[in-house]
Amino acid sequence: MLEQLDSIYAQALDELSDITTGDALSGWERRYLGKKGEVTQLLRSTGKLPKEERAAFGQRANVIKNELIGAFAGREEAIRQHELATQLEEGALDVTLPGRPVQTGGLHPATQTLREFYAVWAEMGFQVFRSRDVEDDETNFTLLNMPPHHPARDMWDTFYTTTPGVILRTHTSPGQIRAMHELGEDGTQPIRVILPGMCYRYEQISARSEVQFNQVEGLAVGRNIRLTDLKGTIAEFARRMYGEDKRVRFRGSYFPFTEPSMEVDVECILCGGEGCGVCKYTGWLEIAGCGMVHPIVLHNGGYDPTEWSGFAFGMGPERMTMLKHGIQDIRYFWGNDLRFLEQF
Ligand SMILES: [Zn+2]
Repeated sequence: MLEQLDSIYAQALDELSDITTGDALSGWERRYLGKKGEVTQLLRSTGKLPKEERAAFGQRANVIKNELIGAFAGREEAIRQHELATQLEEGALDVTLPGRPVQTGGLHPATQTLREFYAVWAEMGFQVFRSRDVEDDETNFTLLNMPPHHPARDMWDTFYTTTPGVILRTHTSPGQIRAMHELGEDGTQPIRVILPGMCYRYEQISARSEVQFNQVEGLAVGRNIRLTDLKGTIAEFARRMYGEDKRVRFRGSYFPFTEPSMEVDVECILCGGEGCGVCKYTGWLEIAGCGMVHPIVLHNGGYDPTEWSGFAFGMGPERMTMLKHGIQDIRYFWGNDLRFLEQF
């Protein structure tokens, strides 16, 4: 069998030296080195040899196989060089043509705004706390001061799952309860977190509403936190995010999990308060909802509301991106249309 091996080797090398095309080269590779190739078959039959001959044969066969692989690569490169040279000579290959631009990916516009939010809130001492997208009814509603049949539940159209009591979160606020339990150490430690994430609502999709969108929730719990702390913090955020000279105003509002509750407007970032189409000629843009954490919510998070207090806020990064870039239709965000995404 050793002689057979050597003669296959000699024959293979001989044939290889005559090959000038890629197709013929592939045929040669199949014939000698492929799964059913001659060298491979011989290697497989090593087991049929008497024991004392096996080692020597196996060694020799492996050497020959590697030699052939090396020769094949050398021939392949020579053919490629030859083809290139021919193309150049014939003028088929114009090496002076400019190259094609390489396409690079980019960050989604909502992600860009989210990252700006993270950076500003991190500077102000808020860490990111990630909560879950799939929630239970209890944490999404009941523990946030909305027991079953509470009329405020109507504010959110909910996606229910086939498992009773398991829903897709309608807002990031249930993360407040989870953050208090995970970071509060049984209501003994202060907290400063932002809770970013996707929320889901069973709504008619239109230019103004989507079934999924990001929210950035914020929560601070501590001793002696007051409404003035909330106002100062939000105003400072607006200055860092939208400019030193931007004025902020607070309007009374209602959320079941905060008391008192407010909505926050910042001077229009496009017209500077003069009035334009984006701010509907009011000079103000709504940027957040906020309030002092309701004592019932603090209690449900493990804190004693007679000793601890806190504030919470929520913002919509897609809405902010729309205002900033004058985007008229929220459906663009999750439509995966590159013509839209490539603009950012
Ligand atoms: Zn305006």
